[in-house]
Amino acid sequence: LSQLFRPLDMLGWVYRTIRQGVIDMGSMFDLIDTQEEIADSPGARPLDVAHGHVRFENVEFSYDPDRQILKGIDLDIPAGATVAVVGPSGAGKSTLARLMYRFYDITGGRITIDGQDIRTVTQASLRAAIGIVPQDTVLFNDTIGYNIAYGREGAGPEEIADAARGAAIAGFIQSLPDGFDTRVGERGLKLSGGEKQRVAIARTLVKNPPILILDEATSALDSRTEADIQATLEAIERGRTTIVIAHRLSTVVHADRIVVLEAGRVAEQGTHAELLRLGGVYAEMWTRQAQEREAGEELAAE
Ligand code: ATP
Repeated sequence: LSQLFRPLDMLGWVYRTIRQGVIDMGSMFDLIDTQEEIADSPGARPLDVAHGHVRFENVEFSYDPDRQILKGIDLDIPAGATVAVVGPSGAGKSTLARLMYRFYDITGGRITIDGQDIRTVTQASLRAAIGIVPQDTVLFNDTIGYNIAYGREGAGPEEIADAARGAAIAGFIQSLPDGFDTRVGERGLKLSGGEKQRVAIARTLVKNPPILILDEATSALDSRTEADIQATLEAIERGRTTIVIAHRLSTVVHADRIVVLEAGRVAEQGTHAELLRLGGVYAEMWTRQAQEREAGEELAAE
């Protein structure tokens, strides 16, 4: 009997782990627009993004004074490059993204975009320059068109339609009885996880930011939908500086650089091939996740 229950137990564990990840990462970005702790410094100027070169210079950060989370992070993200941040749970990956969006101020070092310290620019201009694609998108109880247009005030129907095409959701919207006027959200049409993610991508395309943060973390999408979404994301990354926060290494193989964060420090960085050759933390994570994938496939096949 215990043989029968073991796989069920494991499935329960996988479900709870994924579910928790979804909630944590979802709430991380929902909070961003509502928190108003950080104020513009006197004389703050609008951020001028000529290229989108992002730098972290010896960045230190703690949420609570007695527990340091980031311990001197140096990161150089060239304009237009895609950098993936990976590492164990609690390493500080989401924190890096929150700090870039200036959700909190750092306690040491500096973060610059094209040479401008983000503490010296207006928050409105900083947040206009950064697009976030969370994995768990919140939809408003309004039309699907409104939900896409939310990316930028004053977006017109043409831009909304273009963005829907870019996010590969235009065909789906056209098949709905009311097209872009179809109501979605809790009180309207319920969209699948993949469809919601495409709305988030379309929203970001309307915003057209030079810098992107992709939260590709634990996701409950089936593998085919996930591969489709991955292809769409790779298309929108082109020409933008992109930071990918990733939990599954299979989605970051294409990144220009992979940064391995461990306990608030950069443990390793390089391309996928370089890090495998190095035979360190990343190589170990890669082997472990490959074994887990195989185990998952066997479980699914039983
Ligand atoms: P995961 O892969 O599990 O999402 P992560 O690498 O993204 O983890 P972070 O969310 O950046 O990790 O968290 C880094 C550390 O900061 C964790 O130890 C976490 O407990 C702590 N932390 C995160 N948010 C807060 C907060 N609002 N207040 C206090 N501590 C926090």
